[in-house]
Amino acid sequence: MKFSYKLLLSTIIVMALALGFSGFYFVNYVFETSLDREVGQALDESSILSFAFETAALNVPAKYSILPDSTVEEIASNLESGGQSSTRRRIRISGEEKNALYVSDGFAADYELLAQTDEETKLYRVVTAEGKYYIHTSVMVNVLDRILYLETMRDVTSVFTERQLGFSLYRRVTLIMLLIGTVIMHLIASFLTKPIRLLTRATKRMAQGEYSYRAKQVSRDELGQLTRDFNYMAKALEQNIEKLEEELDAKEEFMGAFAHELKTPLTAIIGYADMLRSHKLDEEKSFMSANYIYTEGKRLEAMSLRLLDIIVTGKNEAVLSRVPAGDIFVYLEEMFADRRDVDIRFSYDAQDIWAEVNLIKTVLVNLIDNAYKASEDGGVIEVSGYISEEGYCFAVKDYGIGIPSEELRKITKAFYMVDKSRARSKNGAGLGLALCEEILKIHHSGLGIESTVGEGSCFWFVLPAEGGSVQTEEKEPAD
Ligand code: ADP
Repeated sequence: MKFSYKLLLSTIIVMALALGFSGFYFVNYVFETSLDREVGQALDESSILSFAFETAALNVPAKYSILPDSTVEEIASNLESGGQSSTRRRIRISGEEKNALYVSDGFAADYELLAQTDEETKLYRVVTAEGKYYIHTSVMVNVLDRILYLETMRDVTSVFTERQLGFSLYRRVTLIMLLIGTVIMHLIASFLTKPIRLLTRATKRMAQGEYSYRAKQVSRDELGQLTRDFNYMAKALEQNIEKLEEELDAKEEFMGAFAHELKTPLTAIIGYADMLRSHKLDEEKSFMSANYIYTEGKRLEAMSLRLLDIIVTGKNEAVLSRVPAGDIFVYLEEMFADRRDVDIRFSYDAQDIWAEVNLIKTVLVNLIDNAYKASEDGGVIEVSGYISEEGYCFAVKDYGIGIPSEELRKITKAFYMVDKSRARSKNGAGLGLALCEEILKIHHSGLGIESTVGEGSCFWFVLPAEGGSVQTEEKEPAD
């Protein structure tokens, strides 16, 4: 059953019980009050009649020492018709033995009450006869040494009829109130449960793969908070799924590129090996074929080592130590000292940095190597280290071929080369920058790239710096 129906049903049950009980209590209270009033009047009337009976008996001529039955009947008859209303009273007069001396027409009460009546008591009870309700009273009258009993019957059917009417009126009012209440509660319940419906719809849409779908927030209460939390969770989920999809795409891309990169050297190796075994080649051709096999094999070896580096680096955390940045620059200067066809200029601020020094050297060697490959003979490469607000910044700038802006995002992906044949001719495999990214990632840093085609490129990254004075050392350009 829907939650809104449950809410509606429970409210209707509570309403029905409340209206039913209050109605019953109210109608019954009115009835009890009216009945009490009628009882009071019936008892008063009984007192008045007994007093009237005594007075009438005293006025009888005293020729008899006791009151004869005929006189009793006469007085009773007078009392029966002496009421103010047009209808006759219903009375019964009984003698000492509780034997009836006078009974009005329609006096239908039994003798039970009479049997209980004595000198002290003045009794009443409600009786029914012929579909009508009466208050039956009984009292003892002592006149002229005679003990008599006077009983009356007062018609109170109207009080009971009113109670019936009250009940049926209240039933109708309750039903109408319940109907109106049901309509109003239905509207309120569907308004209150709207956030739940919207959330359910959002859940279904998301289950169907529409991860960007969000539930509309329509209230500011707990359900509104739930919607906000749900949307927050949906956003996190969407981001995670996007990330997973990206990772999956990257993996597929990587596998494709890897297979492609393997294919070229393997085809060459297989081709030349086949030529060697199936043809009788002269010495020069045999050497050439063996040399191809060797160089392509070497390329494969270098590639597999790089891949291993990337995988191993990505799995470990960097073990940082404090090193002077100058030491790294001294190492680089020595390493590239023999590259005399380009002008590599080093400038740096003396500063201690936090890094796993061998890995950072690998990054810089890769960046300088790339800049070298991109530069013309006689080109300039500027390798600098300086203190910035974020930390210590390393930058490698060249004035070479540059990189098209649409390629910038992709060049750090494994096996990605802007110009494949040019990269391969320079022994590239598209793995250097991917390795740099992995190394910088474990240093909690990243690679910044700026490049303009035909003007050159600048690669930089920042590492945490530590104290030290700011000095700048310039190395003279290599000749
Ligand atoms: P590799 O140098 O082995 O080909 P990298 O991952 O180091 O692989 O570089 C990927 C590609 O990015 C290179 O093939 C080249 O096309 C481009 N690239 C990298 N650095 C530069 C640069 N300084 N100038 C121009 N292109 C560059």
